[in-house]
Amino acid sequence: MPDITKKRIAIFGSTGSIGKQALEVIAANENLFEAEILTAHSNASLLVEQARQFNPNIVVIGDESQYAKVKADLSGTDVKVFAGEDALEEVAAMDNYDMMLAAIVGFAGLKPTLKAIENGKPIALANKETLVVAGDIVMQKAVQYRVPIIPVDSEHSAIFQCLVGETRNKIEKVILTASGGPFLGKKPNYLVNVKRDHALQHPNWSMGAKISVDSATLMNKGLEMIEARWLFNLKPDQLQVVIHPQSIIHSLVQFEDGSLKAQMGLPDMKLPIQYALGFPQRLPNNFPRYDFRKPNALTFEEPDLKTFRNLGLAIAALFKGGNLPCVMNAANEMGVYAFLRNRLGFLDMTDLIERTMEKVPFIEKPTLEDYFNSDAEAREFAASLLSL
Ligand code: NAD
Ligand code: MG
Repeated sequence: MPDITKKRIAIFGSTGSIGKQALEVIAANENLFEAEILTAHSNASLLVEQARQFNPNIVVIGDESQYAKVKADLSGTDVKVFAGEDALEEVAAMDNYDMMLAAIVGFAGLKPTLKAIENGKPIALANKETLVVAGDIVMQKAVQYRVPIIPVDSEHSAIFQCLVGETRNKIEKVILTASGGPFLGKKPNYLVNVKRDHALQHPNWSMGAKISVDSATLMNKGLEMIEARWLFNLKPDQLQVVIHPQSIIHSLVQFEDGSLKAQMGLPDMKLPIQYALGFPQRLPNNFPRYDFRKPNALTFEEPDLKTFRNLGLAIAALFKGGNLPCVMNAANEMGVYAFLRNRLGFLDMTDLIERTMEKVPFIEKPTLEDYFNSDAEAREFAASLLSL
């Protein structure tokens, strides 16, 4: 019999950076949470290790060729094993969990998350691309199925925390903070030569490869502006980005009286993960605390849009709307993975995205199918540019 006092968490993307940290949070709060479903794309050995430790009801391995290995390694346990892309949606549609942690990276996270919403399951949302691609439809469905979407992204968790108790009060502006990434202050003549290993060295956060590159190009902040727009029902001109290299203030909300609220803390993704899983309760922990008595200059500056042109492209997509953010996201995913394979230069990612955004026909009010088609079209065009 399941323990009904515990919240049963389905971690989609359990082998990633967010997924692993979520399992640490669950392990530290085993009286409150249990891992019910774990999914991985291709890291079968880590998935098996996690399943042995957390004894979930179900695991899904995306890569079907590894099904037999996972099944054999988990023989003798009660864990059910599924495989393949469709299994992610089938499992998201099941009843036996209480909350989905959407921690798959990229467009691949969209379909299972939509299924969970249609299934009435609350979402702890790490996968920002879901809202970048189809934020209007995802948020409409969340309202329709009365599903709360609790952000895990640290900036959005900060904004969410600032808004608790403010339901009747209008937001004037939301200020998203950005660390600036590993190349803060650098110019194009430097960036032209940077390689994957350098881009993966983030000064404040340890994250998956894709988001690390997005942080280095500032595309991550552009994706986050679009994510914030949908999560908090904002107009594009209510969003501002400020570079704050210390990553202590995680974002700010300015209200109609000019008052600013900020959420602060040391940079550690376990905190927003724990907040989303436990909401509305704040759970005690022994994470290190920020100490105001130590030398602690907190600094702020404007982003350099001339150098980090991806952010400018994302702002253009935010204002234009329609299928443009979806197209931009697809080209960005293609560009980032090509860069990670040393097949595309750092600055060339921007050209790939810009050309794809110009090429794929604009659709002002896309359907879900339009979004899938625009994503496919953008990937096909970007691939044709990459093979030149
Ligand atoms: P990651 O690359 O470390 O992990 C991604 C996970 O998704 C893995 O479990 C992998 O198996 C799974 N996955 C990858 N491709 C898949 C596919 N095609 N189908 C099914 N599963 C697939 O990524 P991450 O850094 O943990 O980021 C996950 C999401 O959270 C991203 O959208 C990212 O933008 C967001 N996010 C991450 C952080 C962070 O600190 N890592 C912070 C804020 C937001
Ligand atoms: Mg973030």
